[in-house]
Amino acid sequence: MSSLVQPRLVNDPFSDPALFVDFRFGRRAILFDLGDVAPLTSRELGRVTHAFVSHRHMDHFAGFDRLLHARLYRPGRLCLAGPDGFIRGVTAKIDAYTWNLLDESSPNFEILASEFVEGQIRKSVLFRSQEKFAPRPHDAPEGLPAGLLLQDPEFRIECVALDHGTPCLAFALQETLRVNVWTAGLDELRLSVGPWLNAAKRAVRSGASDDMEIEAGPGRRVRLGRVRDKALQVAPGQRIAYVTDARFTPANVASILDLARNADHLFIEAAFLEEDEGVAAERLHLTARQAGELARRAGARRFTVFHHSPRYLDRREALLKEADRAFRGEPPAAV
Ligand SMILES: [Zn+2]
Ligand SMILES: [Zn+2]
Repeated sequence: MSSLVQPRLVNDPFSDPALFVDFRFGRRAILFDLGDVAPLTSRELGRVTHAFVSHRHMDHFAGFDRLLHARLYRPGRLCLAGPDGFIRGVTAKIDAYTWNLLDESSPNFEILASEFVEGQIRKSVLFRSQEKFAPRPHDAPEGLPAGLLLQDPEFRIECVALDHGTPCLAFALQETLRVNVWTAGLDELRLSVGPWLNAAKRAVRSGASDDMEIEAGPGRRVRLGRVRDKALQVAPGQRIAYVTDARFTPANVASILDLARNADHLFIEAAFLEEDEGVAAERLHLTARQAGELARRAGARRFTVFHHSPRYLDRREALLKEADRAFRGEPPAAV
């Protein structure tokens, strides 16, 4: 099954969270959260076009510096988004450094920082390396529907704010359509596998006309409709959801279920064991049981728990088991 993106947690579930969403056939990647991103190579960080930060607790934002460092001398725009106060946070981080060596001749690198408040992006600021990162007001994206952080022909990023004592954003990547190749169909058309197929898939995902002509190898032009009918299989796009740092309240539960509904893969925090439910409530986090139950109720096909409290460093299995039993609808194991 060929998917547009492959998500992976950057490090072990006791480390500061970051989910690396790698686009399989493109030179781009997205990050959900900027915790400890040290395990990512500078090449991987260099591909990041967007980083969505759930909230500004240090364990979710401290990796900003490393990302900035990796991107600084590569031309292009890095888009960042976070909750209310995020622009102030980005500005403060940029202000921590001296930029006297940057000028008009520096590689044209930009940071666009946006705040998602009350269901949409309300404010954006642009920082350009060639201007020593002096902040400039920037128009919020036009025509972006409420609840979205990004809309691309091939996918969109949905967002919802959860209550964690402070607004904490949860994200979902929804692929527009999933397009798989059927090699027997390619044989029938006497076409061979090649990079042209990515262009064909992209065209299908973005709703291009059947009459569009595709270059299917040297000197071979073929109608998109013909390739699609014979050699491509189109299915609903995959959905990946990322939920972290949320207290277990009815409002949060409703928002999480909406966001994670029928997700192909839900990444969800499981900070505490159910036996420490009181501590979880006090610290405004989910337990493993709650995480598994939410994954089940949302109808997620697969889920991964992360962001475990270090108090369970030698009890990771217990967290996994508890979440898994709840996911399967089984009662908690007797202690
Ligand atoms: Zn937090
Ligand atoms: Zn956290």
